[in-house]
Amino acid sequence: MSRPLLGAVEAGGTKFVVAIGTGPRDLRDRTVIPTTTPGQTLCRVADFLGEAALRHGALAALGIACFGPVDPDPASPRFGHITDTPKAGWSGTDVAGFLRSRLSGPHGSIPVGFDTDVNGAALGEHRWGAARGLDTFVYLTVGTGIGGGGMARGRLLHGLVHPEMGHVPVPRDPARDPYPGRCPFHRDCLEGLASGPAIEERWGRSCADLAGRDEVWDLEADYLGPAIAAYTLVLSPMRVILGGGVMQVPGLLERVRTRVAARLGGYVNHPRLRGDLSEFLVPPGLGTDAGVLGAMALADGALKRTRTRLAWTR
Ligand code: ADP
Ligand code: ZN
Repeated sequence: MSRPLLGAVEAGGTKFVVAIGTGPRDLRDRTVIPTTTPGQTLCRVADFLGEAALRHGALAALGIACFGPVDPDPASPRFGHITDTPKAGWSGTDVAGFLRSRLSGPHGSIPVGFDTDVNGAALGEHRWGAARGLDTFVYLTVGTGIGGGGMARGRLLHGLVHPEMGHVPVPRDPARDPYPGRCPFHRDCLEGLASGPAIEERWGRSCADLAGRDEVWDLEADYLGPAIAAYTLVLSPMRVILGGGVMQVPGLLERVRTRVAARLGGYVNHPRLRGDLSEFLVPPGLGTDAGVLGAMALADGALKRTRTRLAWTR
């Protein structure tokens, strides 16, 4: 039997990446849609998926890895919604419900997997990338926002809602960095100080244009390092995967490794936390496709859960 065709939506604050396929080696179609208003953006996503399904065959399930905060609890009436986001116009958007209804056919609606963008990417990395064989790890993205997801003992991290690793406090020396931070909730949390837009606002240039400036990336690593050390102490991850656009700056990952090592101070005794941390703090194995392939992994998970339920009720 051929493998089921899956739809994948990586919903980001800047752009949506949409694809269909069966896995990383079989991506049949993909597109990038800029994030504008919810109505316009989601209509374009649904149109693309509908047309792709006409070309390649009906979708068996859809996965959505979404910027947040979101409601990822399937038992909640707000499942699949973006909740109270600082992103203008998007609070309360029913992303999963809209796409499910647009993709429903005469045989009813397809299963929809929905989670945070970073939990999605974590699931993709677990299945196909840098977290294969690991059951407790963190995936952190440093992009338009900063967010963390991951797994503990083989289960995606959920709790009261979902982790918000980007909003932890980090030490800031106002004499060195007078930039006050831009998080609308906390001002100088990690995201407020170290996201791509924070870097660009502080220094007045794009991240790509700042690539050669040591003082920019030393400061960035000084914010990311203590936060990642804190996640390491709290969750005891076997690995931390660092993705997102900002991490594409050459040499930043190496700088962050030295700051994490310095902050841990040799206290946690494990071979992977000695030396240069090159086995502990790593880029995504799926590269810049971690997000969209993570959404595909969420679709696959939703399909498997539905099939298991059907098998039980027969
Ligand atoms: P999103 O967070 O919307 O999913 P990204 O992870 O690409 O998207 O993050 C966007 C941010 O990353 C922007 O602030 C941008 O400046 C920065 N960025 C994107 N690509 C690069 C790059 N090649 N080098 C440096 N910074 C980048
Ligand atoms: Zn914050």
